[in-house]
Amino acid sequence: MASNQNLIAGATGDWEVVMGLEIHAQIASESKLFSGAATEFGAAPNSQVSLVDAAMPGMLPVINAYCIEQAVRTGLGLKAQVNKYSVFDRKNYFYPDLPQGYQISQFLQPIVGEGAIEIDLPDGSVKTIGVERLHLEQDAGKSLHDQHPSQSFVDLNRSGVALMEIVSHPDMRSAAEAQAYVKKVRAILRYLGTCDGNMEQGSLRADVNVSVRRPGDELGTRCEIKNVNSIRFIGQAIEHEARRQIDLIEDGGVVQQQTRLFDPKNGETRAMRSKEEAHDYRYFPDPDLLPLEFDQAFVDAIAKDLPELPDDKKARFISDYKLSPYDASVLVSEAENAAFFEAAAEGQDAKAVANMVIGSVFAGLNKAGLAIADSPVTPSQVGQLVGLISDDTVSNSIAKEVFEMMFDEGPDQGKDAHVIVEEKGLKQVTDMGAIEAAVDEVIAANPDKVTQAQERPKMAGWFVGQVMQATGGKANPQAVNKLVLAKLGLDS
Ligand code: MN
Repeated sequence: MASNQNLIAGATGDWEVVMGLEIHAQIASESKLFSGAATEFGAAPNSQVSLVDAAMPGMLPVINAYCIEQAVRTGLGLKAQVNKYSVFDRKNYFYPDLPQGYQISQFLQPIVGEGAIEIDLPDGSVKTIGVERLHLEQDAGKSLHDQHPSQSFVDLNRSGVALMEIVSHPDMRSAAEAQAYVKKVRAILRYLGTCDGNMEQGSLRADVNVSVRRPGDELGTRCEIKNVNSIRFIGQAIEHEARRQIDLIEDGGVVQQQTRLFDPKNGETRAMRSKEEAHDYRYFPDPDLLPLEFDQAFVDAIAKDLPELPDDKKARFISDYKLSPYDASVLVSEAENAAFFEAAAEGQDAKAVANMVIGSVFAGLNKAGLAIADSPVTPSQVGQLVGLISDDTVSNSIAKEVFEMMFDEGPDQGKDAHVIVEEKGLKQVTDMGAIEAAVDEVIAANPDKVTQAQERPKMAGWFVGQVMQATGGKANPQAVNKLVLAKLGLDS
């Protein structure tokens, strides 16, 4: 794949941006990784904290088997190696919202190893991004700085919540690739049901490692932008950070390895602290937890009920419905969208259904701020409307209008497409006699334009437009075009 298109121009030549991502995905589990406390989002501060989560002396962690299953399930979904033997380590650091003084994580022996993710790029091409590992770890609590003018508070509800940290190789070369990667990981997690992927609530967040180099050079020094919580911000943060590093180097400076924060208010990254190395954390195996071991039968049982995943669904949409790779990737990005399309396409021209779903349905939902589950137009109504285009009852442009009428009415008062077409008299005119009469009328009324069109055949389009207008858009456009050319003597 040509990476040239991804280069960024600097004052002294082109630069390549290199990115690797660490995604923290909260496991969709009702209780925490090592305690029975609840994990529900938005509960009153410190109302979901067990003695383990508060790190009271003598408390011991107990592994939540459900979370282990979800990590294995995710590993299989990422087409990654599942390690039947893994080890929990203590990652030592001090933070006011970390009462243990360490985070239980996995370091040298994670539960999931190498995998691969195919990302779908806007031009329809596919690129494979390597996954280095997936490890399990606890989340920390939260410091609240906005509750009191001079004091900070700590909320431990999040303390001990199960996270999967998914670490990629530095395989991404543009903000668009990094965004496509996060979207794809989120889609896979949602299909699997192992994480709800809700970035606003923080159940999925990305640390983005960015460095720049001259094409072909060794990797440059990277900066890590912490906890970016929207796909749009990921793009902005990368673009700002790459530009900052390029300007710095071109001015004779040196990039310092740092942890940085993205500030969405001004679209900038700023230094938070100099970046730690792994040895700063003094990792060692947690003496409270035995190594985690399971057998192949445990993995096989989970593998047996994996759902059809986005890539498989995409391949099936391309082969069964003859969709373009890009349209297929758009439709499978959410399982609900794919299901809506398949229900609408039943017995209909699937390509036309895909166009209407990606065009009219998504645009309508977007504008109305609705989820697909709340679509006022049902899949079968979309299918019927496409059927009316296929059998020449309505033209494409009339179908768009009918769709909007259906969308505004909603499913309860909403009438099916053929009823609206009947009531409003929107049936396409395919009666050649009627079309011919309309063409004759326009030609007779515009002798000067006829002369012009015979000199400049492109003018024929003007006549087609006039006839379409005269018939209220209901004439069959192909038939009109053919007749106009014939009557003007331009059809040879
Ligand atoms: Mn982590």
